[in-house]
Amino acid sequence: MPPGGAVTALIETHDLGIDLALPGGLISALLPGPAPKLNILRGVSLSIAAGESFGLVGESGSGKTTLARALLGLIAPSAGRLEFRGQPLDSAAARARLRRDAAMMFQDPIGSLSPRMRIRDLVAEPMQIHGMTRSAARARAAALLDRVGLPAAIAARYPHELSGGQARRVCTARALALSPALVVADEPTAGLDVSIQGEILNLMADLREAEAISFLVISHNLAVIRHTASRIAVLYLGTLVETGPTAEIFTRPLHPYTASLIASEPDPDPRRRRADLAIRGEIPGLLRRPKGCAFHTRCPLAEARCRSEAPALRPISPGRSVRCHFAGP
Ligand code: SF4
Repeated sequence: MPPGGAVTALIETHDLGIDLALPGGLISALLPGPAPKLNILRGVSLSIAAGESFGLVGESGSGKTTLARALLGLIAPSAGRLEFRGQPLDSAAARARLRRDAAMMFQDPIGSLSPRMRIRDLVAEPMQIHGMTRSAARARAAALLDRVGLPAAIAARYPHELSGGQARRVCTARALALSPALVVADEPTAGLDVSIQGEILNLMADLREAEAISFLVISHNLAVIRHTASRIAVLYLGTLVETGPTAEIFTRPLHPYTASLIASEPDPDPRRRRADLAIRGEIPGLLRRPKGCAFHTRCPLAEARCRSEAPALRPISPGRSVRCHFAGP
């Protein structure tokens, strides 16, 4: 929850499902009827409060990016509902309005910036697209570069002249251009030295507190999630398997998948032995989603029931839910 603040949902999903059509070609030619679809997300219900930093955890292929794209208004739900400030996002026009209020910090900051544009123009570009004059947009770009801790001289440079940390700050300034209510930060510290990582995370915390911006933080790096998010959701094969307050989940994960992710974090003390919670093999492809509990093919605690019966996401305590037949308080 936002520190000391009331719990007002900024964005919510209710049983959200996202299907994507499989590429055409051979499959469509061989199979009669409409093109087959992949269920990327199924029954995802979550809520991000105004001014909250919410973490999204899961391996590649778990659906994190698809969920982020849905929360940015870039993909229409195939099932369920999406609401922004209590209003349903049930039309292309409503999703376009959301895109005005939401922004993305990309995983590859330099790659996301046009190499032929100067930094001041890159930061000013979203404002000019939305009707601001060039001079006004440049003036605000200068203020935003200052806000994210960059010297004024950066404005005249090109992206390839920046360090990794400077590029990340430029992307943050660009994300702030339209005064978003929600920022999706995809791997916000990837490729940065540890000291610079801390600076970027502190900048995000400062923006969240000072401007009441909500952050959805997506990261493989659990230390980043632990440092930035007050609540987290753990995704596996497109379904939520555990949600709750970050401190509680890191102290006592209830789902075996969450426990194994946390156990696989590098331990600063190499002498400390870890419980053997290693998960086996790779995440299965969505075309081969296991029956019963989707995690049973890799779960160290799976029993016969898990292979036939899909567990529901059960509330365990206020704000905490888990999808496992056996996990409990
Ligand atoms: Fe593991 Fe069974 Fe729980 Fe699924 S329901 S997480 S397979 S113990």
